[in-house]
Amino acid sequence: MPEGKIIKALSGFYYVLNESETVQCRGRGVFRKNKITPLVGDEVVFQAENDKEGYILEVKERKNELVRPPIANVDQAILVFSAVEPDFSTALLDRFLVLVEFNHIKPIICITKMDLTNAKQNKEIQHYAEDYRKAGYDVLLTSSETEEGVKELFPYLEGEISVFAGQSGVGKSSLLNALNPDLDLRTDDISSHLGRGKHTTRHVELIKVGQGLVADTPGFSSLEFMDIEIPDLNFCFPDIEKLSEECKFRGCLHMAEPKCAVKAAIENGELPSYRYEHYKTFLQEIKDRKPRY
Ligand code: GDP
Ligand code: ZN
Repeated sequence: MPEGKIIKALSGFYYVLNESETVQCRGRGVFRKNKITPLVGDEVVFQAENDKEGYILEVKERKNELVRPPIANVDQAILVFSAVEPDFSTALLDRFLVLVEFNHIKPIICITKMDLTNAKQNKEIQHYAEDYRKAGYDVLLTSSETEEGVKELFPYLEGEISVFAGQSGVGKSSLLNALNPDLDLRTDDISSHLGRGKHTTRHVELIKVGQGLVADTPGFSSLEFMDIEIPDLNFCFPDIEKLSEECKFRGCLHMAEPKCAVKAAIENGELPSYRYEHYKTFLQEIKDRKPRY
């Protein structure tokens, strides 16, 4: 039986990409029985009726599942931040990183609008980029205006399902357009697809960009730590998690515990203090969260 990936779901049809052909498929009763609703991003087994049409027989096990936008098997999130307009914020970046790490999605940090920076701002951004690279992240500096650094994203997209994430106005649609001029999406258009207001129910589609698939709707529109529990926070900060192997106490939260390797790393400059400050802020936020019943 042929297999493929759902790249679009619309009006009861699933569009399954099989090599380079798209087959329009219907679901069959099996899904209702197993309570599975096929999602964009699902790997499926289907039966072809002809070249263009078929039936989905089976949905393969998912690696993960995003709620907004509803996509399965997301490999990575391109976290788009502008260097300026709006100003780059490590607090917001760390918040996105925690949410992405928590969902077992690989983050790639992309700081764009580099053409708008003055010398001082440019130096600052380079500095932050180094900090995050040291923490283990891939960081790209781009400009959709001059196209500087844009092509460097292609190898990351290859063979993966990616979602773009980031505040409104940071340059996500401009970046997608720079990556794929054939798309010719007006920036305003995509911005209104952001999953806000009247467009919240808009369908999601995976579009081919380079050799990869990219969701046409940005992800992580909610930045609340709804499902994250206190012990999870450590693995959502891989640099802190790594350091914590040397903490005296297992399960050290790096607060008042003695012989804490994280605190020692801040003292000797190995860990930027802002990362730890954000860790503490998020920890408090989780502690203060009202229990959900
Ligand atoms: P989105 O809301 O994240 O999709 O952001 P847009 O792509 O719509 O960009 C917001 C505004 O920033 C638009 O006016 C873009 O023209 C502008 N912009 C985006 N990227 C760049 C860039 O790299 N350089 C410059 N100079 N302007 C940019
Ligand atoms: Zn510790």
